[in-house]
Amino acid sequence: MATAPSTGHEPGFSAEQIGWLESFFAPLADRPFVGLLPNGQLTSDSSAAGTNQAAEPAIFGTPLADVSKPERWKYDENPLDIWDKLVAHADADRFPDEADTFRFKFHGLFYVAPAQDSFMLRLRIPAGELTAEQLHGLTDLAEDLGGGYLHVTTRANFQVREFRPKGIVRVLTRLQELGLTSRGSGADNIRNITASPTSGFDPGEFLDVRPFAKGLHHYILNQRDLYGLPRKFNVAFESGGAICTAADTNDIGFVACRVRDNAAPGSPEAGIYFRVQLGGITGHKDFARDTGLLVRPSDAVAVAAAMIRVFSEQGDRTDRKKARLKYLLERWGVEKYLEATAQKLAFPLRRWPLAQCEMPRAEVKHGWIGVTKQSQRGFCAIGVRTPAGRLSGRQAHGLADLAKRFGKGELRLTVWQNLIVPHVPESQVDDAIRAVHKLGLGTESDNATGGIIACTGKMGCRYAAADTKAHAAALTKALQKIKEPEFPVNIHFTGCPHSCAQHYCGDIGLVGAKLSDGAEGYHVVIGGGMGAEQGIAREIFRGIRIEEVNPLIARILECYRSHHAAGETFVQWSRRHSVGELQEIFSD
Ligand code: SF4
Repeated sequence: MATAPSTGHEPGFSAEQIGWLESFFAPLADRPFVGLLPNGQLTSDSSAAGTNQAAEPAIFGTPLADVSKPERWKYDENPLDIWDKLVAHADADRFPDEADTFRFKFHGLFYVAPAQDSFMLRLRIPAGELTAEQLHGLTDLAEDLGGGYLHVTTRANFQVREFRPKGIVRVLTRLQELGLTSRGSGADNIRNITASPTSGFDPGEFLDVRPFAKGLHHYILNQRDLYGLPRKFNVAFESGGAICTAADTNDIGFVACRVRDNAAPGSPEAGIYFRVQLGGITGHKDFARDTGLLVRPSDAVAVAAAMIRVFSEQGDRTDRKKARLKYLLERWGVEKYLEATAQKLAFPLRRWPLAQCEMPRAEVKHGWIGVTKQSQRGFCAIGVRTPAGRLSGRQAHGLADLAKRFGKGELRLTVWQNLIVPHVPESQVDDAIRAVHKLGLGTESDNATGGIIACTGKMGCRYAAADTKAHAAALTKALQKIKEPEFPVNIHFTGCPHSCAQHYCGDIGLVGAKLSDGAEGYHVVIGGGMGAEQGIAREIFRGIRIEEVNPLIARILECYRSHHAAGETFVQWSRRHSVGELQEIFSD
């Protein structure tokens, strides 16, 4: 008889569960000396958030007089030590000033005025995995203290909005009671650690990468010197399964690969490893690139921690626009960065040619929606569509109930702003889908609308020039009337150039723009992709008025449908045309 995959919630542990737990903790237990200098000291004075105590005050060698304003705020008061201040603001029902608005983000609390005169809470959901109980609890929190709805983000995470200051301490303590946290989810910290959302049940994966995402999550939560970096920092773990987690858009992407037996001297043992990619930041038009490193999975947390510490010490503390890892790599070169990383590790870094590694197959585009068979025979995962990540309280509670009734009480979030309910017995798939439909959500995909994502936009972000989520929902509706393209197309809405929904790597990207008469509109970019389709989209049109956007996108898709060669994807088709040619084709 087939055995259901374990979620670890049952009393007692089976041999399979013990193996899983051991592998979960292995990355932490194996490497007690990660990130320490040769003299055994941590790389910074953690009590001062990376501040040295030399005669002239400096932050990792940058004189205090030269640092940027947020660096000064971090120096003046460590944002990790402001609990009393959070309580005082809650007691007085008072919003923070500019400096404390920045510090509160270290606790996942974002004061988002003027978009909304309230706090947004951003969580950490490592590997995008949570339980039905946690989803119920989070939804209760949103209903009791916030706006009553949830947003799934493009880092497979949740955001909850519309909290008053008086609620913030209860929000943080209730989160902890649910076994969740928001610590370090904003400002200059390491963001939610993502992992392929089908990890552990994907028939095509090289390995289950959840233990490494969670291992790094717990490591950084417990290392004070890994907060307060020069800027935000993203890390992803790619399993090699069907659904990508956009690893090449992260500062560090760990991509699972297989190394076969090789008789050459010095060759690694056959097995599963990670390739390490560095420097992704698509808002600045750059992807993470392979470094030549081949890392044993049990070393991945240590390598990540060492790399982040080098960034913390050497990143730019003066200019926020040049503070991301990409700019340190440009200034130093990858080799120097890897040498500095190696000095912080108790084991050597191994190089191995990329060409000698079996890399993941191309992802299944839109594979996050619908029913897929799991590696556990007799079980399926059901991918549920959300309208650009938004879930009402009723829908969120309903999905939690559904995960318990039909699955094992477990849910996964995807970087495509959708949810997956795994471990549904094949015999119950139809009933589960009916239950999803009753919630007003879908499990069906089509090639035009299955990959529409949107950042927060004007409803909750002060930088936004457009109401991205509403516009994404309207486009989804409009495109349901057109003839479907032959292959899946991703459409990314971002409200401003910060690129939270990665407009430069969608097949079609829309960037919010305020037009000369003050109206909302978008610039339109075409032909971006990630992974096997990696490439930065090219701008085709500027300042399209909002009422013209849906007809234009429908026309672009229709042009692709009617002009592409047999078997040609949108990216392939659009990239073989110049910008001028595309403008002409779309204007006909
Ligand atoms: Fe806000 Fe811009 Fe990010 Fe959208 S892309 S959430 S508008 S900062």
